[in-house]
Amino acid sequence: MVCDCLVELEHVFIDKTFTYKVPLKYQDKIKVGMKATLPFGKQVLEGFILKIENSSNQENLKEIIDLDDTVILDDELLELGKFIKKTTLSTLMSAYQAMLPLAVKAKKKVHINKKYEQYITLNENFEIDKLKLNDKQKKIIELLKKDKVIKKELLNLISPSSVKTLIKNNVIIESKNELYRLNQKEVEYKPFKLNESQEKVYKEVIDNLDKTITYLLYGVTGSGKTNVYMEIIDKVIKNGKAAIVLVPEISLTPQIISRFSSKFKDRVAVLHSGLSTGEKYDEWRKIKEGKVEVVVGARSAIFAPLKNIGVIIIDEEHSQTYKQENTPKYNAIDIAKERSKYHKCPLILGSATPSLESYARALKGVYHLLELTNRYNNKPVPKAEIIDMNKEFKKSNGYLSKPLIDEITKTIEKDEQVILFLNRRGYSNFITCPSCGSTLKCPNCDITLTYHKTSNMLRCHYCGYAEKKQDLCPKCHEELRDFGIGTEKVEENLKELIPQAKVLRMDIDTTTKKNSHEEIINKFLNKEANILLGTQMIAKGLDFPSVTLVGVINADISLNFPDFRASETTFQLLNQVSGRSGRGDKEGKVLIQTFNKDHYAIKYSIDNNYIGFFNEEMKIRRSLGYPPYYYICQLRIVSKDYKKASDTSIKIANYLKDNLKETILGPSLANIFKINNKYRFQILIKYKDINNIIGITTKLQEHFFNNNDIKLEIDFNPIKL
Ligand code: ADP
Ligand code: ZN
Repeated sequence: MVCDCLVELEHVFIDKTFTYKVPLKYQDKIKVGMKATLPFGKQVLEGFILKIENSSNQENLKEIIDLDDTVILDDELLELGKFIKKTTLSTLMSAYQAMLPLAVKAKKKVHINKKYEQYITLNENFEIDKLKLNDKQKKIIELLKKDKVIKKELLNLISPSSVKTLIKNNVIIESKNELYRLNQKEVEYKPFKLNESQEKVYKEVIDNLDKTITYLLYGVTGSGKTNVYMEIIDKVIKNGKAAIVLVPEISLTPQIISRFSSKFKDRVAVLHSGLSTGEKYDEWRKIKEGKVEVVVGARSAIFAPLKNIGVIIIDEEHSQTYKQENTPKYNAIDIAKERSKYHKCPLILGSATPSLESYARALKGVYHLLELTNRYNNKPVPKAEIIDMNKEFKKSNGYLSKPLIDEITKTIEKDEQVILFLNRRGYSNFITCPSCGSTLKCPNCDITLTYHKTSNMLRCHYCGYAEKKQDLCPKCHEELRDFGIGTEKVEENLKELIPQAKVLRMDIDTTTKKNSHEEIINKFLNKEANILLGTQMIAKGLDFPSVTLVGVINADISLNFPDFRASETTFQLLNQVSGRSGRGDKEGKVLIQTFNKDHYAIKYSIDNNYIGFFNEEMKIRRSLGYPPYYYICQLRIVSKDYKKASDTSIKIANYLKDNLKETILGPSLANIFKINNKYRFQILIKYKDINNIIGITTKLQEHFFNNNDIKLEIDFNPIKL
């Protein structure tokens, strides 16, 4: 017997299997999808078994050294790996590794123990009277007669040696139970009844549970999407099936998790990056062994090894976190669609601000549109008010305008709470005028120009356009300097301006410790502070009933991102943030500070007019040929050697232009041009049909596979450019 194995070779791109001999002792046990330890040259490595054959030709073959007991990759996941390889141009091994928690990846030297709890019971078939027992032994037996099952560690308190002797003589029996590291706190479940519109959505889904359908649930913030999800899952479980719920990593707050675990108790497994390697391993095993019916997690939870999926739910479907930025560059939504096909079950994409791509698909009937247009409590989603920073900035000292300070003060006096949102930039290298908030844009692409310090140039990283950076803002003629503001600075400012305020800060710095996230949220819930100041982290998923004012300090930063999705992300963000206000009984207020009060993304977010925004943005996407009208493929050329990177980029771009009918943009400098002393160039292809470009991109990819000087990274449908 021989088998084909996919071997984990770090740093080398070999995308093929190797054949090994299966020793007699493993022949009964071996199955496709198991993990094995293998000799490879002089090394000992791990790999997955992809094929088993009865072959007599075994000459020169090495033998498998060791074999795991469980099938790690079942048929579905094996196929899913091939899908990822094909659609992201990754290696098959990197696709499989991405599906697994560290503890079960094919990787030497990762060894995580299972934890056990040991129990003792009496051996009922043993006639104790025949034995001479000492006092301690008698006591142990008496206790066991009364309680039947007792933890070994408790009996050990009486006498470890007596316990040992009794086990040895078969008087008592030792058994063990796997112990899971992660224990959810018990949360009381508050039963609820769906309202009429929720019920309607629920019914539609429930009536078609055995079909592969993708729904887009467009429901305003606070409309009760989560409640609808829970009822659907409940039904799915009653049908004997399981559910996956994805939420963006950032909103995997204890608040969301506890809503699910309050209802489904220990039938819920949780998977996200906040867990330790051991915890992740335990959660994965619970799923694998069929001990849970609900998996709540971030992006990679889409690979949860459930055997019988009845529904997949992706909340906040517009979130960029569903796309993996490292290889394999998969999008969890694409994976969800594959799994929904395999299991013949619905996929529900939920959002208050669906991505343009998704809503366009819903309008075309590719997705089935479901709507929740009102908040559950029928309170209006608060209308935002704009604070024009062109007027207010110079009057105020710092980034907090007088109208905002006044409103905060009023709110605090009423003993209500405030959330202040600071838009943190994901990119560091574009210039915003500190006094009028404007940025410079590419005349061809409508994209903010990226600043390159070394050459003092502003460049478009889509088409390559460049101009010299000026010292004065062309609009207001003030000096162009780049002021960054951080949460700390704002916190200081707040304390000066409103001395009576108690401020909690939530950002990367204050949440590095485990559970600090939870602590801050609980403090705020317990009203130990009246202002929660934070970054993107506070935009999503949080439900604070006493918050009646949300202030957005700088709406413009995301608007100026050098990315064609800048307006879309800004609209989504503002909508998310304002959704945090007025969730309780009292009505909420939202104040947005901006330099761009006339920008359509800002205007439409005043009254959360998603459809208005959608229509306007679609016009722009159409005229410039951006998604959803065209797909984009990004080729990134990376090298330590500037000249090689630059020359190769030109060559590749010319090659593409000669061989494709599609529009090719670039080469241009990547948005972040230099990382780790490596220069990065990029080329964009705008395409309609992937079949027209997959051949040529695959060929290029293979050509650069083992080139040590130049790396070529290809990303279909990149989410950030
Ligand atoms: P969304 O996810 O759409 O933003 P949520 O599911 O968080 O909305 O619901 C908003 C609030 O309304 C939550 O506090 C939730 O408990 C409450 N809620 C929603 N639907 C119901 C219902 N049918 N019965 C009772 N409370 C509900
Ligand atoms: Zn351009």
